[in-house]
Amino acid sequence: MTTEKLYQLDSYLREFTATITERSRIDDKPAVALDRTAFYPTSGGQMNDTGEINGTPVNGVLVEDGKIWHLLGKPLETDIVHGKINWERRFDFMQQHSGFHVLAQSFLRELDAETLSSHLGEKYSTIDVNLVKISADEIARVEELANRVIWENRVIKAYFVSKDELENLNVRKFSEIFDPVRLVDIQDFDLDPCGGTHVKNTGEIGIVKILFYEKIRGYLRFTFVAGNRALREFQEQTRILAEVSSSLSTGREEFVASIEKMKSDQSILFKKNKKLEDEILSIVIRELKGEANRAKIVSKIYPDLNANSIRKIASIVSREAEGTFLLASAGEPPFLVFSTSLETLDLRPVLNQALIHIDGKGGGRANFVQGGGKNKQGLQAAVETAKKLIKEKLENS
Ligand SMILES: [Zn+2]
Repeated sequence: MTTEKLYQLDSYLREFTATITERSRIDDKPAVALDRTAFYPTSGGQMNDTGEINGTPVNGVLVEDGKIWHLLGKPLETDIVHGKINWERRFDFMQQHSGFHVLAQSFLRELDAETLSSHLGEKYSTIDVNLVKISADEIARVEELANRVIWENRVIKAYFVSKDELENLNVRKFSEIFDPVRLVDIQDFDLDPCGGTHVKNTGEIGIVKILFYEKIRGYLRFTFVAGNRALREFQEQTRILAEVSSSLSTGREEFVASIEKMKSDQSILFKKNKKLEDEILSIVIRELKGEANRAKIVSKIYPDLNANSIRKIASIVSREAEGTFLLASAGEPPFLVFSTSLETLDLRPVLNQALIHIDGKGGGRANFVQGGGKNKQGLQAAVETAKKLIKEKLENS
């Protein structure tokens, strides 16, 4: 037995009495089919209502061959039941859904662009339009027409006509064609076959606003909000703007200039920093080369130089000076780089022993090895161990 769709006769109906016609389990939940219902099932791009039946939560509603199933928190005992829909959620979807119809017709009138499909989501809704590109001005024109129609508070009616009658009517889009067809009629503006729930007057949509769009193969997808969601979005954006304004210490009309200035300052600082770093590296290299003249093994732990820097230094000093260099960065992560000018010395086993102290991993060539670890406290011991092992190797050779 098919279910009478009370929501199609009166989308403002919040409570109703009905008789259970069938009981089942769907998605491992107890489910009932009713002879009549005000619960909208997920269909036609609109999500299902929630609410309660006899005080038991309704978590899902779906339609199957004209029969509407209500997925429940627990089974129901009686056959005659009282249902109550979550009105806040329903009205929100009515605003989004009606807003969608207005927007679709506005795209058609302003840009001669047909709507391909739509999705009304929990937070945002989308409308796919047969366009490959659009300008900011064109988006503004579509929004202006849509909102003008909203403020004109036009009547929205839903009624059934036979398939034959449809041919003489200026219907926006033929999708699923049933007989009879349910038409949603926005007074002198839009006529569309639709089974969803809508507001009575366009004024109840409040406002419709496109947030952004993206290119999908061959068409554009616009994300929009209507009614209460547009207010939430405006509140959220206002809050973010206030935070940015306070962080930048400027008004919003200066945001772009202020960010451009920061980017340019950053680029100058970056270049200066690079120059200073190069100067520091050349001082460090000079020092290490000097020490290498006095000792065969030179070891150093640098708190302020990172792995990249000590790698660069190690490579230069062992090329330009005679000696073995054990360099460590006490940065994040703690890092070791060992290099030597001696062709007979294999630093790989030395590194492996040293890495144990910093709980690290690494590798390299016989005369140049490197590795990072997790335990900064072990850096000193790692370098000492390496120094001791190399000394032994050199003395025994
Ligand atoms: Zn609709």
